[in-house]
Amino acid sequence: MDPVASEQTGALERRRLQVTGIVQGVGFRPLVFRLAHEHQLRGYVCNQRGHVTIEVEGRPVQVARFRHDLVTRAEAPARIDGLEESSLPPAGYLDFTIRKSGGMGHSRPAFPPDLAVCPTCLADISDPDSRYAGYPFTSCTYCGPRYAVIRSLPYDRPATTMTPFPLCESCRTEYEDPFSRRFHAQTIACPACGPRPEVWSDRSTRMAGDWRLICRQALQSGRIVAVKGIGGFHLICDAAREEAVERLRRLKRRPRKPLAVMVRDMETAERYFELTAVEREALQDRRAPIVLLKPHAALAELLPMNSLAPGYQRLGVMLAYSPLHHLLFSDALRFLVATSGNASGFPIARTNDEALTQLEGIADLFLLHDREIVVRVEDSVCQSVGDTVRLSRRSRGYVPETIPVPLPPSPRKDAPVVLAAGAEQQNTFCLLRENQATLSQYFGDMDSAEHLANWREGVRHLTGLFGAEPGVVAYDPHPGYLVSQEANRLFAGRQLSPVHHHHAHMAACMAEHGLTGPVIGCILDGTGFGRDGTLWGFEILTGDYLDFERVVHLKPLTLPGGEAAIRQPWLMAVSLYYDAVADMARTVSWAQERFPHYKARLPLVLAQLDGRIPTPTASSAGRLFDAVSALLGLCTVATYEGEAAILLGEQAEVSQEEEAAGPRPPEAGAYPIVISGGELQTRPLVEGLLEDVRLSLPVPAIARKFHRAVAGMVCRGALQARERTGLQTVVLGGGVWHNRYLLSVTTRLLVHSGFRVYAPEQVPAGDGGIALGQAVSALWRWHRNVSGGAGEGA
Ligand SMILES: [Zn+2]
Ligand SMILES: [Zn+2]
Repeated sequence: MDPVASEQTGALERRRLQVTGIVQGVGFRPLVFRLAHEHQLRGYVCNQRGHVTIEVEGRPVQVARFRHDLVTRAEAPARIDGLEESSLPPAGYLDFTIRKSGGMGHSRPAFPPDLAVCPTCLADISDPDSRYAGYPFTSCTYCGPRYAVIRSLPYDRPATTMTPFPLCESCRTEYEDPFSRRFHAQTIACPACGPRPEVWSDRSTRMAGDWRLICRQALQSGRIVAVKGIGGFHLICDAAREEAVERLRRLKRRPRKPLAVMVRDMETAERYFELTAVEREALQDRRAPIVLLKPHAALAELLPMNSLAPGYQRLGVMLAYSPLHHLLFSDALRFLVATSGNASGFPIARTNDEALTQLEGIADLFLLHDREIVVRVEDSVCQSVGDTVRLSRRSRGYVPETIPVPLPPSPRKDAPVVLAAGAEQQNTFCLLRENQATLSQYFGDMDSAEHLANWREGVRHLTGLFGAEPGVVAYDPHPGYLVSQEANRLFAGRQLSPVHHHHAHMAACMAEHGLTGPVIGCILDGTGFGRDGTLWGFEILTGDYLDFERVVHLKPLTLPGGEAAIRQPWLMAVSLYYDAVADMARTVSWAQERFPHYKARLPLVLAQLDGRIPTPTASSAGRLFDAVSALLGLCTVATYEGEAAILLGEQAEVSQEEEAAGPRPPEAGAYPIVISGGELQTRPLVEGLLEDVRLSLPVPAIARKFHRAVAGMVCRGALQARERTGLQTVVLGGGVWHNRYLLSVTTRLLVHSGFRVYAPEQVPAGDGGIALGQAVSALWRWHRNVSGGAGEGA
């Protein structure tokens, strides 16, 4: 009976807990409130800039139980990363309260990204008796927009774009009821007090009537609707109507790049797609990414697959993720194309005005509302390879969640914040504070003043939100990268840290997997600026965060027309052919037959190939894939980045039964691999490939042999690196690794050769992940430099 006796006689205990992690905007304070209530404790909970502070006062045993429950009952999306405790003399609190948010703290703020509508809110929306029936801005503490509507921290309603909507009495009651799901839900709103949808047919005509009926009717009659979503506008049309899809492509000037499809619900997805366990999980994740899925044959009877994703084996699919999206669907509308709402050259439209101006002439209708979007956040994209889901675009739903990265031994407390500018294509930037990296939302290609301005805004917003002042700026030293120049200009006077493209790819994969190195990096991508000033892209490197060495690379190929060859894979095919046969007359007659359309351009191309006109070269995996794709007739001119290479990768997955009929010599092994003088030779590969073309081996079979040859080249390169260094760990990096077949085959081969293999998962393998590598590399160099190491090793 001793404990009870001591409880009765014992003094009160007062404890202060400081909790860091994802604890703001996720129903964390309500949880604390309920727990305090349960354990009869008094005190308060309060959001601070970087953490949540809790003080509880009561009997020691209750305080201990409270602490235990707090740690065990905090559920996703909340995440406790750190808990600091201290004891204080009792203050004599009378009750437990949620206090107004406090000011600055020095801990790192972490708050959740935008989350898909939860099942309970969906049920509210479809319940005719609920006050949320049919209301497109329903949310609770577990769901709804966050990052896209937060102007500043701490996360409270006045810091969001919900400020113009004072709560009605019913909402206020729910907001203040600690036992309600909407207790302190900062985005709470209802038809009486919240944002409202409006339909406009152009910038001067607002349409009267029920917005749902108007939009559904328009979609069913094949029209295009611009819809204001969570992080920007989508252009939406009925995915089942080929003429609507084709019209959208024409107007958006997007002839072949795949379009993502939003489906009504999980039941529809289950019915029309082959789902593995991890794909099902990804699809239903509250981050609601686009997941590339293999359609059942039955879907081809419903949807024009060749218009949606020409040449692809999988379709990009996401579930409707906001209540507004859900309300657009009906029994007659189960699949909607949902593509970024932007005119070509512009970032996705954010404000009503931007949409009405930019999308005029593309959209027939505009579904607008008066809840402002603070920052553009595009949809994320992932796919499963084996049993692992890998992100190829990390944006909405994931940003600004932090990624923990390894630090050098005994890291210094005064380490600066690092800002990494990212790459020129598929840009994201990265903010690194201590060991927490925040990879930004996706900014796309930095090819216009508008995109650069959007990037600048994004940098300002995120650094402002976190109150983080970068002391070191990492960037890609490519002399033509506008984003590198912009970062240098914007942060003039800070310490600059150039990180080479392929080194950054390697470092990104290391950082994601918590590796400190050294490692072997197998980096396969398009064209990045190499250390010797030429273009690289098929690189077997060794190194760590500080520095790297180039051990093996692909023999460089001439890029006829320079960077123009990237958009014209047929030029690469001619270059590859000439390199293999080393015979001008044969090349001429082959090229004339293979690419008759471009006959007139051949003399100039040939003059570049035989060196009469000086022409750049590149040791790029992407260009090798392009060349083979064009050689096989899959894509001679690309309409989007990576098209030819991607179509070749897709062919490798075409099943045997689907292959064209014709003479079929047995498909065997891979094309021969020869490595000499640190260079992977393409000639034996091309000779084998041309022979198979002559024998009319089906394209998918050739594609598979080619992929296996590339896998073999990577493995041979890694083996050479191992011989030289003894390293056993391989990291993969570069956009070519988004190729599912290549990734599977190569990983198998490397593992079979005794390597430990790490491939990108949560951080995109392509240029969208490069900023993470830049940032970690720059931070490690800073540490090395302050501890008196050698100079920069870029
Ligand atoms: Zn909810
Ligand atoms: Zn209300």
